[in-house]
Amino acid sequence: MNPPRLRPKIDDWNRDYWTGGAEGKLKIQKCGDCGHFNHPPLQVCRKCQSEHVACEAVAGTGVIDTFTINHQQWFPGVEVPYVIARVRLDDAPNVIVTCNIPGCGVDEVAIGDKVSVTFDEQDGIWFPLFEKAS
Ligand SMILES: [Zn+2]
Repeated sequence: MNPPRLRPKIDDWNRDYWTGGAEGKLKIQKCGDCGHFNHPPLQVCRKCQSEHVACEAVAGTGVIDTFTINHQQWFPGVEVPYVIARVRLDDAPNVIVTCNIPGCGVDEVAIGDKVSVTFDEQDGIWFPLFEKAS
């Protein structure tokens, strides 16, 4: 079992992002007027201020844009070192998700690696993480 993560405050705009993993889907907010993907989700579109925004499923694949390796144990029970990466989504390229890259050593992660979404479910929240694509 993974150590507990900081629980996000759920609202009407981010609920689908944090619970999409129940369906195995990464859901990113998209503007119904201009098509811009907004992340993190907001009440209005960042680009055109439209209130016509809703989350929709994306492919859940992307590329590691950059990363850092954390060596400090900020919380008990959290094993160090671990990777904190920025993942740029393939079908929503303006979206960057900050996450861990579980399932591989910190020396196995490189900028440009292809990754796919996986989820760490904790008490009704499905934290999106990315694993190296096989
Ligand atoms: Zn818009």
